Amino acid sequence: MRLSYLPLALLCSLPAGSLAAQAAPAPARAAPPGAGPEAVFGRLDLPTPTGIRAGSGAPGAGYWQQRADYVIRATLDTAGRSVRGEERITYTNNSPDSLRYIWLQLDQNLFNSESRGFRVFGQDPRFGTKGAEVSVRLLKVGEPAVAAARGKPAVPAAPLTYVVNGTMMRIDLARPLPPKGKQLLELGWSFPFGANSNRMGVEDIDGSTIYEVAQWYPRLAVYDDVQGWNTEQYLGQGEFYLEYGSFDVSLTVPTDMLVAATGTLQNPDEVLTAAQRARLARARTSGETVVIRGKDEIGDPASRPPTQYPTLTWHFTADSVRDFAWAAARHFVWDAVGVNGGTTLAMSFYPPSAEPLWKEASQYAKTAIEYYSKQWATYPYPVASNVNGIEGGMEYPMIVFCRNRTDAEGLYSVTDHEFGHTWFPMMVGSNERLYGWMDEGFNSFMNHYSFPLKFPNSAQPTARGVPETYIKNALSGDEEAIMSPADRMRTNENWRQALYNKPAVGLVLLREHITSPERFDPVFREYIRRWAFKHPTPADFFRSMEDGLGEDLSWFWRSWFYTTDRLDQAVDSVALSDSSGVISRVYLRNAGQMPMPVELALLMDDGSTQRVRLPVEIWGLRNTYTALIPGPKKVNSVAIDPDGWYPDVDRSNNRWPVAPAGAAAATPTPKTN
Ligand SMILES: [Zn+2]
Repeated sequence: MRLSYLPLALLCSLPAGSLAAQAAPAPARAAPPGAGPEAVFGRLDLPTPTGIRAGSGAPGAGYWQQRADYVIRATLDTAGRSVRGEERITYTNNSPDSLRYIWLQLDQNLFNSESRGFRVFGQDPRFGTKGAEVSVRLLKVGEPAVAAARGKPAVPAAPLTYVVNGTMMRIDLARPLPPKGKQLLELGWSFPFGANSNRMGVEDIDGSTIYEVAQWYPRLAVYDDVQGWNTEQYLGQGEFYLEYGSFDVSLTVPTDMLVAATGTLQNPDEVLTAAQRARLARARTSGETVVIRGKDEIGDPASRPPTQYPTLTWHFTADSVRDFAWAAARHFVWDAVGVNGGTTLAMSFYPPSAEPLWKEASQYAKTAIEYYSKQWATYPYPVASNVNGIEGGMEYPMIVFCRNRTDAEGLYSVTDHEFGHTWFPMMVGSNERLYGWMDEGFNSFMNHYSFPLKFPNSAQPTARGVPETYIKNALSGDEEAIMSPADRMRTNENWRQALYNKPAVGLVLLREHITSPERFDPVFREYIRRWAFKHPTPADFFRSMEDGLGEDLSWFWRSWFYTTDRLDQAVDSVALSDSSGVISRVYLRNAGQMPMPVELALLMDDGSTQRVRLPVEIWGLRNTYTALIPGPKKVNSVAIDPDGWYPDVDRSNNRWPVAPAGAAAATPTPKTN
């Protein structure tokens, strides 16, 4: 590992005990035998546009998506370490289909020691030891009562039948839900916190407890035009696919606790002191971090509003979000700073022992969010909270959980990464459970550029978008394709490469070398704009990029995203021909299955140097190519990709003449412009 913080920084997050039992390496999936240029360059077979998704990669004129609006009331039981809640969901059917049932996610059922996820990835005492105790207990499933209209009796609440299938639940509707119809659902549930740290959990530290609560209420599954109900089980590795909507959430906790959550606090007068409200107002317009509740105020009754009640209810609302998460503790230090001119408040919540490192956390959030806002799209939410607890690194709308307490680079790296998820998948809402690269990979690509902003002199400029670790994985013989679901990753390293690093390396390549930042950046911004708060598929991304870049990139998507093909460019020899003056013939070969443009550095016989760039299309004819270099100068030596831009898995054949073993190559590495 080149960086001590690499594992944590890349996590987002790996369940405890997952992949503990790694399968024996299987052979890498190679290109089909005899695959020639046709197989590599032929048009990628993407789904035929239907009008719902346009051929340009934009949402089509007939695009639709469902909507789920939640009202939730929940109580944290600190004695029993459990959460109990009720929710009313308003589900809007914007599809052209009548729905006879509705699917919801019950992620807490993962922690049951009989769950599929436990059997596939866990079998670890930390993962689920309490058996059926650690799962959602449904208290109520039904349609709400309808209030009496004048002269008519009230319609009583109607219980609905349902069936639980692992982490999914199907509710059967009494009447089909027609297109444009709305369905009200009421659910009551409870679950205990397990002894786990899978994206959420409980930590006892500094004499008190931090609760990080996520994936905690029955959540509407996505019904879309691509596969109808998306009912993939939650096995622990893949993340989520959720509908957009609004949240109105009331959280009842002991009076002496502070709460951080998705959304805007609606009742600060009831749950904060006058001093804290004034400090928050000051933080919004401050470039400096403002302490809202300091370390020295913890335990001081004056740091909580006067009340005779043992509990207080914190009320939050949020709009245009896919999810809601929160955290609570008695001993949070809390600080805040204004971001993007005060339109957003970045806040950090941490236990006292996380100082002094965490005093920087709000500034880290500010740096990352302001950079992404300027570079790609404006941060869309009023709040950005970072909570330090048991979870290594996990993102939810407007709130992230970051674990690092040990080093500044590691804390910035994970903070930057988790807030980067605001763009993917909080704004651009892809199906993470199937296509982890569409959030982790895009985010890692963005992180590649933001890490050096804070630590330009780091010994390791960035941990994301690193060709060397990808090449190592490719050469291991165990590489898995980027398009593979997270739950199919055989090893931690495959997961790290296929979901995070390899897509980031590919996008850096596409931006800096296959196209250019001037061409790429507006097109990537347009992809975000087109799909903000919508549900793009991989095909929508591929089409959208080609549409704006003006390129058929089938060869790139196919080889980089769909296969484990490798890049290996070679120079075989150089010869001279004199028929029409001196011409040097440079004989090149595409020794791997993956095509790429070729960057050549030539050293001529008079000592001068030349750079030659060959387009990727040369490999569309055959796997060999002869580059003609007109005289009168003759080519003395050749280096392919002298700057190491491309992830060539075997660089021993990149130079001619071949350098003697152990000797420095005689070929030049001219500076590029
Ligand atoms: Zn992530």
